[in-house]
Amino acid sequence: MMPKHTQNHLDPRQPLVVDTTKLPRQPGATRALKRVVPAPPDLGLELISVPTGSDLELDLSMTSVSEGVYISGGVRGSLSGECGRCLNEISEPFDVHIAELYAYAASTTEETTDEDEVGRMQGDLLDLEPAVRDAVVLTLPTNPVCRPDCQGLCVDCGARLDDLPADHSHEDVDPRWAALHKLSNGEPPEAASPHDK
Ligand SMILES: [Zn+2]
Ligand SMILES: [Zn+2]
Repeated sequence: MMPKHTQNHLDPRQPLVVDTTKLPRQPGATRALKRVVPAPPDLGLELISVPTGSDLELDLSMTSVSEGVYISGGVRGSLSGECGRCLNEISEPFDVHIAELYAYAASTTEETTDEDEVGRMQGDLLDLEPAVRDAVVLTLPTNPVCRPDCQGLCVDCGARLDDLPADHSHEDVDPRWAALHKLSNGEPPEAASPHDK
């Protein structure tokens, strides 16, 4: 069996490591924990994630409980990604809720739970990153789209169907009409016929 206390020591300079020194240890004592920190790398999924270093706004409260420190509240920030249907850029805010107990070393909770179930205090320090990571990843769509009814791309020409007229079609289209179509859609004129020179 691996020993239970395998976690590395926390670095209080890490943006998501919280120092609870100022929180009185009497159960029920509460302190606000409001700060803006840079988002850690790889916070999200392949297609949509929180840009590394972007603002993560913590609006939390920490409460002393007999077994440790309970952290709850909101985490806000922005997501950026790519629409799974039309590849357009997606940029949207997120607002997730976290509620996590961090058990004191040698408390009953610490001894009767697994590190994966209940967080651990390391002295006065605790690490919010796993809780923030779980909450953010859970809220992410596995198939992000720019809008729920995004029509995706035309299978014939690869253009975004949302940018095209509703009757967009490649059946029996005269190439001259296609060129005119592109012009009326504001595309660069290099797509037009050489007669325009
Ligand atoms: Zn889209
Ligand atoms: Zn098309």
